[in-house]
Amino acid sequence: MCGIVGYTGPHQAAPILLEGLKKLEYRGYDSAGVAVNESGGIHMEKSAGMIRNLCKKTADGAVFHGCAGIGHTRWATHGAPTDENAHPHVSNDGRFAVIHNGIIENYLPLREELQARGFVFKSETDTEVIVNLLELYYDGDFKQAVLKTISRLEGSYAIGAICADQPDRVFAARQFSPLILGLGIGENFLASDVTALVAYTKNVIYLDDGELAELSPEHVTVYDCTGHPIQKKISRVTWDVEAAAKGGFEHFMLKEIIEQPRALKATIDPRIKNGRVVLDDFHLTDEDLKGLQKIYITACGSAFYAGQVGKYVLEQLTRVPVETDIASELRYRNPIIDEHTLMIVISQSGETADTIAALKEAKQRGARTLAICNVVGSTIARLADTVLYTWAGPEIAVATTKGYTTQVAILDLLAVYLARRLGRIDEAEEARLVGEIQKIPQQIQRAIDLNPGLEDIARAYHDNSDMFFIGRNLDYAVCLESSLKLKEISYIHSEACAAGELKHGPIALIEPGRLVIAIACQERLFEKTCSNIKEVKARGAEVLGVAMEGNAAILAEADKAIYVPRCDPLFSPVSAIVPMQLFAYYVAKENGCDIDKPKNLAKSVTVE
Ligand code: GLU
Repeated sequence: MCGIVGYTGPHQAAPILLEGLKKLEYRGYDSAGVAVNESGGIHMEKSAGMIRNLCKKTADGAVFHGCAGIGHTRWATHGAPTDENAHPHVSNDGRFAVIHNGIIENYLPLREELQARGFVFKSETDTEVIVNLLELYYDGDFKQAVLKTISRLEGSYAIGAICADQPDRVFAARQFSPLILGLGIGENFLASDVTALVAYTKNVIYLDDGELAELSPEHVTVYDCTGHPIQKKISRVTWDVEAAAKGGFEHFMLKEIIEQPRALKATIDPRIKNGRVVLDDFHLTDEDLKGLQKIYITACGSAFYAGQVGKYVLEQLTRVPVETDIASELRYRNPIIDEHTLMIVISQSGETADTIAALKEAKQRGARTLAICNVVGSTIARLADTVLYTWAGPEIAVATTKGYTTQVAILDLLAVYLARRLGRIDEAEEARLVGEIQKIPQQIQRAIDLNPGLEDIARAYHDNSDMFFIGRNLDYAVCLESSLKLKEISYIHSEACAAGELKHGPIALIEPGRLVIAIACQERLFEKTCSNIKEVKARGAEVLGVAMEGNAAILAEADKAIYVPRCDPLFSPVSAIVPMQLFAYYVAKENGCDIDKPKNLAKSVTVE
C-alpha cells in the first residue's frame, strides 16, 4: 500500500532508488529497503523507520555497486514494522529479491506448502511467499517463474523483482495495486506513483491488472497474464512533483475521499469467503463469546462516531446490548466492565492517548478487547487481545475520510460475524447481509457520481455561520460525523441533532436562512424526519435533504436534494457520509481554508 521504485540503466541504481523513495515519503510508511544486483549477487539493505535511517546505513547508497535494483517503503499489513519484515525479501537461495505493495490473501496455505518443501521463512509478511515461489518455479527462465508465481497469488499486489542471473532485468506485475513504468533514454523505471518518476521522465505506461512487465536499460515489454507481449499506450505526465504527490488532486482530503471505493474493497473483500464473513484475525473463542453480556465501544472523534454506527448495527444483528463512550470520559467514570464484556476500541493511528488509557482500563477489569486500527504494530494493536485492521492505506489529510468509512465497514462485518457465531442469524441471512456489504465499494462510487452538483451547493451556503445536521437512528450517527467534518475543515459552527430532539431545545436557534441538512436514508422513519423538516422550514430554514436514490418525496419538503444509492438501510451510513465529506470539503475550499492541515488539529492525538 506504500511505495515501490525500480531502476535499470547506466547509472548506479541505489542513489536513484533512494531519491525515488524520498519522493514517496508523503504517503506515510514505517520502514524502507533497497536491493541492487551486484556482480557477486543481490545486495540488500533495509531498516525500520524513516528513509534517512536507510540512507545513513548505506552511505546514501554508496555501499551498493550495481545498475539495476528495486526499492520499497512499507506500510505494514502482515507483521510489525521491523527490519526483518521490511522489504525487499530475498529467496532462500539468495537468487531473487522482491518488493510488494498490497495483500496476498492466500499467503497462509502458500507458506505452508513452501514450508513443506523445506523453505524457511524469515519474516511475518505475506510477501515472502512471492519470492520463494519464484525460487520454486525458476528453471533458468525469469519471466516464466514470474508468470507461474503470480498465477498462484490471490489478493492485491504491485510487485517488483530482480534475479541475480539477469543483472540488468527488473520484472513488475500488478493486480489491484497501482504500478507505473517510466521510459527513459537508455534507462527505465518502475514506480507505484508518478511522483517518484517525474524528476527522470514524463513518458509513462500505466500497467493494468493482470499484466506484467520486463524492464532492461533499452527495452520495456509488457505481457498479459499468459505471457504474450501486448502493446501499451505511452502517456505523457503533465503534473509537477507537488501535484503528482496528490495524484493530481488539489488536496489529499479529496484524493482520499475519491480513494474510498478502493479502500473499502481492500478492507471488505479479503474477509468474505463463499457468502460468509471470515475473520482469520479474530481470536476470541466460543467460550469467550458464550458468556458475553455486553459490548462496549470506546474511541475519540470520528472513530467514536464510527462506533455510534457500530452500536446500531451490532445491537440490531447480535441483540447484545452495546454501550458507547468517549475514551476520555470512560477512563474517569468507574465504568461497569467485567469479563463478560467485549470492549471494542477504535483508532486510525492506534496511538490515540485517551483510547490507549481506556483500553488498559478495560483490560484491567477483565474485558476481552478488540481493536480496530489502520496502523499495524501500533500501541493499541499490540495491547488488544485481537485486532481487525482497516486496510485504508496511509491517510495524510488530518480530517479522516477513508479511515472512518473503513472502520464502519469493519463494524458491519463484525456485527454479521458475531450474529452468526452467537446463532442470531442463519446461513441464508448471513449470505444476504454479506451480499449487501460486498456492494459497499460500488455504492460509494455511486454516491460520488450521483452528486456532481455538490460544489455548487457548497458555494451557495458556504457563508452560513451555523449549520445543523438532523436525522434519526443511523442517519443521526451519520449527522454526528458530517457535522464534525464540516467543523474540522471549514471552521463553521455546526451541530448534529437527533431530529426528534429538535423541539426540545435546538429549534430555538433556527432562524430565516439557517442551513439545515436533513439526512433521511432510513426510510421507515422518513415520514418522521419529514415532520422535522417541516418544523425548521416553518421557521425559515433552508433545507438540504439527503435521501435514497429515487426518493422524489424529499423534494416536496427540502429545497435541494442529495442522493445516496439505494441499499440495505443497515449499511447506508458508509455511502451516506460520502456526499457529506464532499460538502464539507467544498465549503472549506470556498472559504479558503487549509483543508489538509486544519488549524489547531493533529492527525494522531497522542496526548491526553
Ligand atoms: N502486505 C505486505 C507487508 O505487510 C506489503 C505492505 C505494503 O503494501 O507496504 O509487508
